[in-house]
Amino acid sequence: MQPRSNRLQQMIQWVVDIFYPPSCMTCGAAIAATDGICPACWRQFPFITRPYCERYGTPLPFDHGGMSFSPLAVADPPVFDRARAVARYDGVARELVRQLKYNDHPELAAPMGQWMVREGAELLSSAQLLVPIPLHRFRLWRRRFNQATVLANEIGRRTSIAIGHETLLRVKATRPQVGLTRKERAANLEKAFSVNPSEISRVAGARIVLIDDVMTTASTGNAAARALLKAGALSVDLLVFALVAKDA
Ligand SMILES: [Zn+2]
Repeated sequence: MQPRSNRLQQMIQWVVDIFYPPSCMTCGAAIAATDGICPACWRQFPFITRPYCERYGTPLPFDHGGMSFSPLAVADPPVFDRARAVARYDGVARELVRQLKYNDHPELAAPMGQWMVREGAELLSSAQLLVPIPLHRFRLWRRRFNQATVLANEIGRRTSIAIGHETLLRVKATRPQVGLTRKERAANLEKAFSVNPSEISRVAGARIVLIDDVMTTASTGNAAARALLKAGALSVDLLVFALVAKDA
């Protein structure tokens, strides 16, 4: 005989399934279990696998064995140590990010966070603090929640790593990054972040992993990492769900 709370949970699930049958998180096709994607979407999922650039996390065309670096990482290394992403920001992965960000589907953060824990295992194993990249207050109000925060909550829940919700402050209203050149993006984001004075003791000497949903260029991660390193962080890595992969 099952405990009462389990039976109650099952009953609730039946009712939910009748009114909201489980559907694929990206295309809406009917599937067997909740929190999943259908086999067709799964096959198209643009997972990033090795070889990828050790610094930027971007996929590389050839495996040279050992540590690999993209030409960009050699010519223009990032401020953060290492970036890792679950997927290329494309197709099914892009749709998941869009659903999480704009369509009020915070429940997607659970499977997305789970994938990030797996892909970011190397970064997370030595991390002492997770810091979600904050949105500017105006954009937070429009979107109602910060997708970086909900992903950080999921990762923190699964790894027991502390989360610095108030660690980084966005100090300047930045223009949307869309349509700006690389140089313009960097200038737009210069001094965009500062470390909350009350959090400095937490940041000093800590190994930190920044969390965000998407890395478009490295400029946001660089600006956030610069602020944390200035405040005495020992190391800063960046873990995102998806990255815009340019030809390496
Ligand atoms: Zn699907």
